[in-house]
Amino acid sequence: MNSSTRTIAIVGGGFSGTTVAANLLRTPNWGPARVVLIERTRGVARGIAYADRDYKYLLNVPAGRMSANPREPLEFLEFAKRRLPYATAEDFLPRALYGEYLEESLASAELSASAEVQLERMRAEVVEIRRGDDGVSLHLDTIDGRTIGADDAVLALGNPAPASLPMMDSLLSSPRYFEDPWAAPSSCRAGETVLLIGTSLTMADVVAATSVNCNDNVTIHAISRHGLVPPSQTAFRHAPCEGDSGALLREASFSVRRLMRSIRRLADNTQRQGGDWREAVTFVRSIAPALWGRLPLREKRRFLRHVRPYWDVHRHRLPQETLAQLEHMRLRGNLKIHAGRLLTFERSGDKVKVTWRERGGTKASKLLVDRVINCTGPEYNPHRSRDPLMHSLFAQRLASADPLGLGLRTSDNGALLDEDGRPADNLFYVGPQLRADYWEATAAAELRSHAERLALHLADATRRRAQQACHGA
Ligand SMILES: Cc1cc2nc3c(=O)[nH]c(=O)nc-3n(C[C@H](O)[C@H](O)[C@H](O)COP(=O)(O)OP(=O)(O)OC[C@H]3O[C@@H](n4cnc5c(N)ncnc54)[C@H](O)[C@@H]3O)c2cc1C
Repeated sequence: MNSSTRTIAIVGGGFSGTTVAANLLRTPNWGPARVVLIERTRGVARGIAYADRDYKYLLNVPAGRMSANPREPLEFLEFAKRRLPYATAEDFLPRALYGEYLEESLASAELSASAEVQLERMRAEVVEIRRGDDGVSLHLDTIDGRTIGADDAVLALGNPAPASLPMMDSLLSSPRYFEDPWAAPSSCRAGETVLLIGTSLTMADVVAATSVNCNDNVTIHAISRHGLVPPSQTAFRHAPCEGDSGALLREASFSVRRLMRSIRRLADNTQRQGGDWREAVTFVRSIAPALWGRLPLREKRRFLRHVRPYWDVHRHRLPQETLAQLEHMRLRGNLKIHAGRLLTFERSGDKVKVTWRERGGTKASKLLVDRVINCTGPEYNPHRSRDPLMHSLFAQRLASADPLGLGLRTSDNGALLDEDGRPADNLFYVGPQLRADYWEATAAAELRSHAERLALHLADATRRRAQQACHGA
């Protein structure tokens, strides 16, 4: 490594950060460069989703569609078969195994990298990013007082914590309330009653783990506005639905109502022809960024207000095994799913008294529970973020949110847009907050393409700078 070595700091070593790093290491002829992958927790490649936990959570996407490498679509399946020889493309495999796969992909990318490109893994939490005196270079300050110098920084900060619910203020310091569902113990005392706020994927994870770890000796109430639970996945079909993307794009430029009518028609036709509505949803997902870009702002607002819960519940689906666990709990009376609105929370001895109202009803009901777990999912709105790094970016006007508060604004190559809408030269973002521009940006299938595109951009830009420096010398 010499003085012309470019330092690319990647903040966050979950799926997105690890995949950007692996792509950089695999790209030939662009160094010299030092790729510093900074992760605040122990080890990289796992993030919240693929951590090794005391319960074997399953992926909610079949193995054949979980490759982190768009050029090798069956890469994860091939990795899995080395551990589980009978694994098939349709299997829903453990999420911890997927974490191992990401670790291995990074290690093998590191081995294949040219001597000019080196990876450094660093355990640190970045709390502030500043520009140096030259106005270009970057200084990354960590929570323990270190400063890391970088030429480029990629923010891959991942899934933010769930929103703080205002009515929970009185419970915030209570050991009975878990704002972070992953910090809640998945075992319990016999006969406990638990309230889960939310009825989507996180709820399903918590119910599955609790039912196994507590031997069904627990009563779980799960409440959300609509009480919608994700349906099951079906077997992976190799003949995907071919919708008319041009027609859907035209409808999107008029209104969300027309768009949804066309999507429903597409799902009905797919079913009539012997297919499955899920294939229509997969097709719509494949063009979601273009559809989202076409919807006028007021129609996007309408979508978020009226359609989002229904889109989410059809798009985020559960493995049949997980759904069967939920059904088992439901049939035994251990799981009660409610559609309604939570009204108040009060401490009552060592329990929590909860008041809620059923959807469409007028009468309030009460529940006495032993613990409350927030399963509402990540709070993506950067303005509501409690992350010091996000605060620092906004305070320096280096980042901006979209008008709907869905995430961070970026340019086509992933550069952060500052408050005036100008793309940064050397500050990038990749991760679920790309939903601001792409709407669908949470799953591996979408994020792997963003990670690959960003790595190619960084490598190209480094190569071009080196050539310019050569010609200038
Ligand atoms: C529980 C769960 C299950 C999922 N299951 C699936 C699935 O089956 N299939 C699928 O396709 N998608 C799934 N997803 C979607 C998932 O969001 C993406 O696949 C992926 O995990 C997102 O990766 P990320 O790196 O952007 O975020 P994360 O995985 O959240 O990683 C971000 C990392 O950055 C670190 N970090 C954050 N801030 C800092 C900082 N300031 N300094 C240092 N480090 C920092 C965090 O510690 C974390 O490790 C799941 C998501 C969740 C939450």
